[in-house]
Amino acid sequence: MKRPGFITWGYAGALAACVLAAVIVGWLAIATAIDGDIYDWLFRLQPSERARTQSVVLAIDEATLSRYGGVPQTRAIIADTLERIADAGPSVVAVDVILRDKTAEDARLAAALARTPNVVLAADILPGTSTWEDPLPAFRAHAAAVGHVHAEPDPVSRVLPLEKAAGGQRRWALALEAYRLHKRAAFIEESPDSIDVGGTRVPAARADARAMYIRYAPLSLISVANLRDEPGQLDQLRGRAVFIGDTALSAARDRLMTPLGPPMMAGVEIHANAFETLAAQAFIRRAPLSWSVTVSVLLVVAAGLVFAFLSGWPAYLAGSAIVAVSHTIPHVAFSRGVLFDYVMLAAAAWLSVGTAAAWQYFVVRRQLRKTESDKARYQQAIHFVTHEMRSPLTAIQGSSELMGRYNLNDEKRRQIAEMINSESKRLARMIQTFLDIERLTEGQMDLRSDRFDVVALAETCVQRARPLAERKQIDLRSNDMEPLAITGDRELMEYALYNLLTNAIKYSPAHTTVTIDARREASLVHISVRDQGIGMDAQELRNIGRKFYRTRKAEASGEAGTGIGLSLVQQIVEHHGGRMQVSSTPGQGSCFTMVLPCGIPATPASASTVLSN
Ligand code: ADP
Repeated sequence: MKRPGFITWGYAGALAACVLAAVIVGWLAIATAIDGDIYDWLFRLQPSERARTQSVVLAIDEATLSRYGGVPQTRAIIADTLERIADAGPSVVAVDVILRDKTAEDARLAAALARTPNVVLAADILPGTSTWEDPLPAFRAHAAAVGHVHAEPDPVSRVLPLEKAAGGQRRWALALEAYRLHKRAAFIEESPDSIDVGGTRVPAARADARAMYIRYAPLSLISVANLRDEPGQLDQLRGRAVFIGDTALSAARDRLMTPLGPPMMAGVEIHANAFETLAAQAFIRRAPLSWSVTVSVLLVVAAGLVFAFLSGWPAYLAGSAIVAVSHTIPHVAFSRGVLFDYVMLAAAAWLSVGTAAAWQYFVVRRQLRKTESDKARYQQAIHFVTHEMRSPLTAIQGSSELMGRYNLNDEKRRQIAEMINSESKRLARMIQTFLDIERLTEGQMDLRSDRFDVVALAETCVQRARPLAERKQIDLRSNDMEPLAITGDRELMEYALYNLLTNAIKYSPAHTTVTIDARREASLVHISVRDQGIGMDAQELRNIGRKFYRTRKAEASGEAGTGIGLSLVQQIVEHHGGRMQVSSTPGQGSCFTMVLPCGIPATPASASTVLSN
């Protein structure tokens, strides 16, 4: 009865360890890297689409540079572009070029900036310092805002830090400032978990440096050179945010890898994508750790239940389904803009399904084999029991036939009737005892609570066992015992003691002695049966009392047995609040002792009352 309990706790413990292992694995740096790669893969698997872009990138590309005379002409290009788009009515113009150094074109650029409303200029942190590379004051004076274009040294640009601080100064990202002006918002409202820009709540927590996942998708991109050739394209700029920046491979120093994969993307396009993410409010949120842990726990519990209640291919099928679910959840969540810890979930599912399947395979299989062998021995026992019952039955049958067939005198008839009566009573007692023991094993029986004398009990058992002892010329002795009382079920105690006595006789050679003794020690009564028989070694002693267990020497002795007697004795003793003690030496003999809590010493009258029942 204890075993399944132990296994259940062991099983639950193993599954709990799976949750812990999955959480730890999910925390490892390698898991973060894998999660990132899987995010990129999901991104490519479920590409984002935009109904209509709200921004246009005016790209200073290779064609533009060659048209204007190369990188040194960048300011002239910006000034010229600003002049061209002045009448196109863009909502905001973000210039993703650092305008820190003085050049000959500065006066023209400053004049162009002055004519352009809602300009956002770029600032970056000087590499390795905490100093901002701000635009020249002449330009700054005409800008509505300055936004940072600082990119973290991250292999893949998945998120944009919406705020950046250096040297005690903080800048919002260029894309965010552009969005603010696009929404005509005067300022950005901050709370610990999000920021609010003109009614748009951006889930970017302060603790995460206000990192916002960028949803990359195709942009509206016009080459500056092309704009010059086809002024009709200017119409596209009306009411939209214009991002001007380098995209030429030779000029753009801020090219980064994105989840879309190679080629690397120019910073201005990354900011335009961030702007589009804000404009569409297509935010991607990282699921809180508690969600990933909860889902992991649910997956582990599901795996545990599957292998606890199913077996064979249905269990393996359901286990595979759990693993499949663990891989599907991040996909489904991603399509709803939520990022789960992919590695944690997958680890939880694989580990728990593997553990539960292995547990089922090894432990349950072992139990099954044990149950099968128990069943076989139980059947043997039933055989033996029916065999035992046959002798009183044969006696009854034979005697009744005698009575029917022959004309017997009264005296003979009376003797045979008495015999039939006593044999049928013996049979009834036998059946009752077995039924009681069965019910006791099942825990269904209420024990009777009689008070009886141990000496009288021993005497009854000795009387019953004497014929067996005499047959083997074994000297069966009871030591001198003082009156001792215990409270319990007399029938069952008699069964137990008789069993110990018959075992002692069975497993002893001829001309030896079997001694029964009862004594009191403090509040306990020790009833022992000592023999000089085959004995048992330490290993056998450990197994004694196990249902259907028989020692090899007992099997070899030729004595019939089932190996259930002692386990029942043990149960009877335990049901009486006592315990069994066994000591034994191979070849020298054994001593089986029932240690029971004692009652009040029985008076001769009360003992005889019980016995006469
Ligand atoms: P059975 O006698 O029917 O085999 P039991 O449950 O009474 O079953 O005993 C279980 C086993 O314990 C026996 O088969 C025997 O191996 C061992 N055993 C019990 N009593 C003794 C004893 N007095 N001496 C040696 N071995 C014993």
